[in-house]
Amino acid sequence: MSQEKPFTVKSFQDYLKEKKLMGNSCDECKNLMIPPRMLCTKCRGKKLRWSQFRGEGSLETFTIVYVPPSFLKDKTPYAIGIVRLDEGPKVTARLVNVDVERPETIKMSMRVIVEYMQEGTQPFLAFKPA
Ligand SMILES: [Zn+2]
Repeated sequence: MSQEKPFTVKSFQDYLKEKKLMGNSCDECKNLMIPPRMLCTKCRGKKLRWSQFRGEGSLETFTIVYVPPSFLKDKTPYAIGIVRLDEGPKVTARLVNVDVERPETIKMSMRVIVEYMQEGTQPFLAFKPA
């Protein structure tokens, strides 16, 4: 058994670099969380374990960002979506391979799959149309 990573955003990003979409699950109530949390968001339980997600889901909603954080300032506009993963939980991520100039072409509930991306050395989670 390799050493367990702590349930932090840093670990989540380290896994993204390895092209793994990792959250955690609660042993007590089976709640799934992504990104991982230190405490169960439902029952506040602390008996948690890593859980890998397949990286497929459907788009619940999205927004087009025109005023980004500074490290993305030359990337605007871009789309941020909320994806309902097939395993249940929702996750916020960049949307890529979509036409942000024509947001009407981005369909609610369309199927999306994970895309592991990097901005400089910073990994980030993205989804593209399936
Ligand atoms: Zn729980």
